[in-house]
Amino acid sequence: MTDCLFCGIVAGDVPADIVERSERSVAFRDVNPTAPTHVLVVPRRHITDAAAITAGDAEDLADMVALAHAVAAAAGIATNERGYRLVFNVGPDASNSVAHLHLHVIGGRSMSWPPG
Ligand code: AMP
Repeated sequence: MTDCLFCGIVAGDVPADIVERSERSVAFRDVNPTAPTHVLVVPRRHITDAAAITAGDAEDLADMVALAHAVAAAAGIATNERGYRLVFNVGPDASNSVAHLHLHVIGGRSMSWPPG
């Protein structure tokens, strides 16, 4: 989609610190990290947000979650002792700011639940 920031990163037109790639997804570091590991996993196909996901997106979703786990494993936090958080923000109350589906992979520090 034209004028989509994350489509630009997927296409290589916008610079990003890419950490992992798969056939369907790309993972890059969040420019404003909230934890030692804060990576965004996005589908190469443009999907607006988690509310727009349909059954036809199932392979993209499965790929995103698998790539998120690979990111966590590479960061050394995909262990029983550590762990990580996966987040989709939807809408203004959740502070969703980029209209291309992205899965936050957050870890490397202890996090409370529920989040503030
Ligand atoms: P959300 O609030 O769920 O929409 O998250 C969007 C995230 O994208 C925020 O955490 C931003 O810091 C991050 N972000 C915005 N622009 C970029 C960029 N060019 N490269 C990497 N991360 C970005």
